[in-house]
Amino acid sequence: MPAQRLIIKFGGTSVGSGQAIASAAGIAADLRRAGHPVAVVTSAMSGVTDALLGGAAAAVRGERVHVRELAETLRAKHHAAATELGLTGGERAAVLDPMDGRLTEFAMLCDALAVLGDASPRALDAVSSLGERMSVHLLAGALRMLGTPAVPIDAAEIVRTDNAFQAAAPDALETRRLTQETLGPLLADGIVPVVTGFIGATVDGVVTTLGRGGSDYSAAIIGAALDVDEVWIYTDVDGVMTADPRVVTDVRTLDTLSYREMSELAYFGAKVLHPKTVLPALERGIPIRIRNTFNPAHPGTLVVGKSDDPVAVFKGVTAIRHQSLVTIEGRGMLGVPGIAARAFGSVARTGTSVSMISQASSEQSICFLVPQDASSTVLDTLRREFEHELARRDIESIWSLDEAVIVTVVGAAIKQTPGVAGRVFGALGLMGINVIAIAMGSSECSISLVVEAKDAEQTVKCLHTLI
Ligand code: ASP
Ligand code: MG
Repeated sequence: MPAQRLIIKFGGTSVGSGQAIASAAGIAADLRRAGHPVAVVTSAMSGVTDALLGGAAAAVRGERVHVRELAETLRAKHHAAATELGLTGGERAAVLDPMDGRLTEFAMLCDALAVLGDASPRALDAVSSLGERMSVHLLAGALRMLGTPAVPIDAAEIVRTDNAFQAAAPDALETRRLTQETLGPLLADGIVPVVTGFIGATVDGVVTTLGRGGSDYSAAIIGAALDVDEVWIYTDVDGVMTADPRVVTDVRTLDTLSYREMSELAYFGAKVLHPKTVLPALERGIPIRIRNTFNPAHPGTLVVGKSDDPVAVFKGVTAIRHQSLVTIEGRGMLGVPGIAARAFGSVARTGTSVSMISQASSEQSICFLVPQDASSTVLDTLRREFEHELARRDIESIWSLDEAVIVTVVGAAIKQTPGVAGRVFGALGLMGINVIAIAMGSSECSISLVVEAKDAEQTVKCLHTLI
């Protein structure tokens, strides 16, 4: 393989223990030795972000003992990894000291939250960013142990975002400038930068996060900023599978996918990649490879502009559970403009995102899916918005069906292949599965259907037989 500039990103399980970190470092060191300039992006050790946020919640409830215990558990976990890696002397201090500093910060932040009895999104980002700001030291230390020069980099210095805490959006231009300025000279000197995933900072230097699971997105953002040749996402499975192996037994790992297929799969529940990861890669045409830290010989799944897989119409089936199907229904809606706009406007103001929409052409009902935990807020808001229409009976009812599941089949060829819908519904009909709602956008490469929770598993299995 000719020398390629690479970003390689390790997920939580890939840095989940000293042993895993050693394997991850080995992969990075081998690539560099083979002549590839490599920058590394890392997640927090698995479970750490959840624990940190759990600590913040406990602090808000005033449970200071619980917070102290958590801090101790986190300290022990990171120290154990350092020991497992065999870090000693000055190298051990270089890794442990900054991590202990972050844990002190955690305790102080939690004290503040306990006093306030409340946690703002900004405070939660300060807390949840600490996991990556610890793991980065372990991974850089592990690389140095292998004789590979490596330095930890806090992405707050290179990823510039807006101030939408907990779901911050990157400023591509500023990020490009900062990233090239900081990482460029290191790469030129053969030093491996190990960068925190998940986080960034505002123009004022306040730490933000890109949203849960956002380290994948970080890797693509940084990769785009550096114009790398490829972004490799190391996880704990061989690649993107045709379905969830816990549901379907004969799943396969896909060789290639298009960006479009990948983002549909990720958006509709395939957990392997953060849905936004594809965007920066697509913009600059950078291929993404999803690979297994624990099975490095496997080539993984390649995500590119056009997947050269001419035969497969269907690539994968996913399911998102715990959804509510909200329906607005009434004969008086016929031909009345603006009902949909008002409905979605008021839902948006609750901060809820709608995952799927379908409207019958008779215009007598609109239905859409929202996460179930938002459904009562959404219903309240809609009933207030349409108070007059409800009183006049133009709208007869606004109601929701809970425990709905969206099952999606994805494949770029769906839109140009005749008879696809027939195959999908034919297969489901044979199994006697009742489909509650359907959506297939004209430009989309997927078909989504809503079924009741009791039918979800069967639906996934049934549609997987079409792949
Ligand atoms: N550590 C963060 C999370 O658990 C980001 C990531 O792992 O991608 O959400
Ligand atoms: Mg992840």
